[in-house]
Amino acid sequence: MKIIMLGAPGAGKGTQAKMIADKYGVPHISTGDIFRANIKNGTELGVEAKKYMDQGLLVPDELTVKLLLDRVANEDCKNGYVLDGFPRTIPQAEVLEKALNEINDKIDYAIDIDVPDENIINRMSGRRACLACGATYHIEHVPPKKEGICDRCGKELVLRDDDKPETVKKRLNVYHEQTQPLIDFYTNKGILKTVDGTVDMKDVFQSVVNILGE
Ligand code: ADP
Ligand code: AMP
Repeated sequence: MKIIMLGAPGAGKGTQAKMIADKYGVPHISTGDIFRANIKNGTELGVEAKKYMDQGLLVPDELTVKLLLDRVANEDCKNGYVLDGFPRTIPQAEVLEKALNEINDKIDYAIDIDVPDENIINRMSGRRACLACGATYHIEHVPPKKEGICDRCGKELVLRDDDKPETVKKRLNVYHEQTQPLIDFYTNKGILKTVDGTVDMKDVFQSVVNILGE
């Protein structure tokens, strides 16, 4: 089962992707998490990616595509995966499609989590992230058991640099310009499924399960 999560920044892609990964036993692959891990470890890729991420811009395709293609070639992706944050541009989608074609494979579902822009700023300013294990929380909707501490690994939670309101506005513009066209792209391929992302995360997940099957 190969799945792509689509949606604005903060729509809940990561939240749902983790639940999909747990239920269906496929790896959750987030290009944003991979970049953040590189930033944390001070790698060359991290230094380069941070320049774009801090401005709310997309990291150039040259840095993103190879990283993703290498990741999905790993043994643990043999039976599928859920992609969160990739593709984000039509060229990224085309490269992925071509790479899969070459091995007689394809994406099964592109799930768009639909959340209006008005809800996004609140989602993002309340998001708290664990940079150690990738878990995400929301100070009102999904609070950790102990304030500021990750339930999963016990490390400190942070407000991501790119979740500050000014950067979020920029990221929303970038989403509408560069990523939203993927909705038509996957509609034309006949694999787009849309779920209402404004409801409780458990209800969003139920809609996802209705699509993917029990
Ligand atoms: P994305 O991966 O699309 O950027 P996240 O999954 O990190 O988004 O979710 C953004 C924020 O909104 C997080 O703080 C998350 O806990 C919260 N969130 C996710 N889904 C819901 C939901 N259905 N209702 C309310 N808050 C949610
Ligand atoms: P995310 O964690 O998915 O919200 O991504 C955070 C940031 O990482 C984005 O705003 C981009 O700067 C960068 N990023 C993540 N995935 C991609 C991608 N597929 N293409 C370009 N930039 C990306």
